[in-house]
Amino acid sequence: MPMNIAMDGPVGAGKSSIADAVAQRLSILHLDTGAMYRAFGLYALRMGADMDNEAEMETLITKAQVSVRYEKNGQRTMLFDEDVTDLIRTGEVSAAASAVSRYGAVRRHMVRLQQALAQTTDMLIDGRDAGTVILPDSPCKIFLTASAEERARRRWLQNTAKGDMTPYEQVLRELNARDEQDMNRKTDPLRMAPDAILVDSTHMSVEEVVDHIVSLVEGVYGKR
Ligand code: C5P
Repeated sequence: MPMNIAMDGPVGAGKSSIADAVAQRLSILHLDTGAMYRAFGLYALRMGADMDNEAEMETLITKAQVSVRYEKNGQRTMLFDEDVTDLIRTGEVSAAASAVSRYGAVRRHMVRLQQALAQTTDMLIDGRDAGTVILPDSPCKIFLTASAEERARRRWLQNTAKGDMTPYEQVLRELNARDEQDMNRKTDPLRMAPDAILVDSTHMSVEEVVDHIVSLVEGVYGKR
């Protein structure tokens, strides 16, 4: 049985970078499932599709080809043959990912791809449904969160470092809107698996969170 770790949590909890660091410490791969929904969101934007039209999204997901591959510095996310890793980090694509991920057909398609990868490979999967849907039998589930204000503050700092001057209040508003959509959608809403361990990073540094999660994983799988 491969080592499969599930990590979920709301927008801006630091999941991606923490999952990267934890996976690196454990010498396993990190699958960023949000990037897959983002790649499909980008496709829907490019096709000019109506993301409120479920039937249209059901057809579109059968046409899209989203995949991942791994390079020295981690996951590359592919849309057909195009590496879209860096193109999917805009606010527009974030909103599109949140919109397209509401639909059952889209989710089933992505979950199938994710489970196929996890079946053969030691990996840490981060997302919204890793502990509840993708890896329900994982013995190691983490739910990573922080207060909304702290998550917005971190996102705002990241944005300004990249030259994106969106005001803090707007970042907080958009983050709350995306959380709201993720937690209230009909299919696979964001929720903590009953057997997940809650890690609240509001008052922790990245290093502290990584050390803590590595020790939780080692508690389950033993020292690597
Ligand atoms: O994690 P990230 O912010 O990149 O995810 C983008 C969007 O994709 C989320 O807002 C969420 O709506 C959706 N998502 C999802 N299920 C996952 C991962 C992401 O619905 N497993």
